[in-house]
Amino acid sequence: MAVREIVVYPEGADVLRKKSEPIGDVAGPARKLVRDLKETLNAHPEGIGLAAPQIGINSRVVVVRLGGHEDEESEPGPPRTLINPEIIELGDERRDFDGCLSLPGLYGETVRPHYLRVTGVDERGEPFDDVFEGFDAVVVHHEIDHLEGVLFIDRVDRPEDLYHVRENEDGELVRVSLSGEDKSSSKERESALDSLSL
Ligand code: ZN
Repeated sequence: MAVREIVVYPEGADVLRKKSEPIGDVAGPARKLVRDLKETLNAHPEGIGLAAPQIGINSRVVVVRLGGHEDEESEPGPPRTLINPEIIELGDERRDFDGCLSLPGLYGETVRPHYLRVTGVDERGEPFDDVFEGFDAVVVHHEIDHLEGVLFIDRVDRPEDLYHVRENEDGELVRVSLSGEDKSSSKERESALDSLSL
């Protein structure tokens, strides 16, 4: 097992922009890949999902930490593995918060489904057919995007929807849009800031 280095964009564009290949056999090299993904995600407490291309491997495997967004106190669960995940139903598209370990320090607002039905196999090769709702659906959708070479910045409609988060002089986290405009005064945006401990 090993904590792997996370591939960042744009330096790692070759692997992050490539479509990933399905896993044929969950035994063998795929086992080590799953372990490495879990260990690497666990080494990043701010991370709630990681896809194989983010550790340099173009295989269709993602790990996600679900259930951490119902309220401020809830902690995301342990990493769950989705191998060869396939979206068979999606709906309830909404604008929500987005961020990525491969784009450190950058956040944005994207529109993604908050209802997602996905099939695939787990790390033991057992098939699953599960529904993900709310922010869990956002997380799973974001990770499956990685397997297609899609990054969250591709789903941001307007450049002003991309922002960095900085500490102000009072030690509070505020959004600074890429255009340099401080949008933290907006009530709606302040409430979205709560999500940043993800
Ligand atoms: Zn990501």
